[in-house]
Amino acid sequence: MADGVSKVYGSGDAAVHALRGVSVGFVSGVFTAIMGPSGSGKSTLMHCLAGLDTVSGGRIMLGDVEITGLGDRRLTLLRRDRVGFVFQAFNLLPTLTAEQNIRLPLDLAGRKADAAWFDQVVDVVGLRDRLGHRPGELSGGQQQRVACARALVARPDVIFADEPTGNLDSRSGAEVLGFLRASVREMGQTIVMVTHDPVAASYADRVVFLRDGEIVSEIVQPTPDTVL
Ligand code: ADP
Ligand code: ADP
Repeated sequence: MADGVSKVYGSGDAAVHALRGVSVGFVSGVFTAIMGPSGSGKSTLMHCLAGLDTVSGGRIMLGDVEITGLGDRRLTLLRRDRVGFVFQAFNLLPTLTAEQNIRLPLDLAGRKADAAWFDQVVDVVGLRDRLGHRPGELSGGQQQRVACARALVARPDVIFADEPTGNLDSRSGAEVLGFLRASVREMGQTIVMVTHDPVAASYADRVVFLRDGEIVSEIVQPTPDTVL
């Protein structure tokens, strides 16, 4: 959650006000998209929400923890335990198999995967027959689905996805978005996705629009599987 968050890059005449008093909360089990033109502050907001960047003013809460002002060590641990990330560029480790990539967050945290949960994630993401493949042997869409499974496997409080379909053709993009939405519907996952693509945003339950560092509007939309 962001409460009156501002972010200024640089100072004096060169200062860029990337965020100007942004307040936004995220309800558990809801898929939120943050949209806005290039330079409107989407990435800055996501980085601040995830504790990847510091704020210039205001507060950030990650679950019930205020992260504003926490040191790097605490932040790293919090992110490891509570946050999943999906990036535009997949960011998989090329020498590991799909399965090893998916298990990585658990291995890093010294946790063991709950076998039933791991199976559910792999099935929802549709990767059962690709678990032994390395990223180089997978299509872009399959790689991004591995990245989604990796983000989900440790059951984070929230998954932050930054332009997750930016490098995908529309069919692969639709598969990835379908999976993200399924993880919200079937597993109660909370997702915050930054995108400038209206098609990607149409998969979200809620869309928050940024312009010049401010939230200018917000809509709640019925997604196809919520329409009766
Ligand atoms: P978006 O993700 O919507 O394209 P950004 O959050 O990347 O927007 O950028 C918001 C504004 O902050 C832009 O004017 C951008 O140039 C500026 N900005 C982003 N990162 C930096 C940085 N590291 N240093 C200086 N200015 C930055
Ligand atoms: P606890 O505090 O008892 O460990 P958690 O809140 O961590 O409970 O876990 C709640 C649920 O999440 C459990 O039912 C468990 O099946 C699942 N879970 C927790 N950790 C993992 C994990 N590393 N892999 C898969 N599932 C997990």
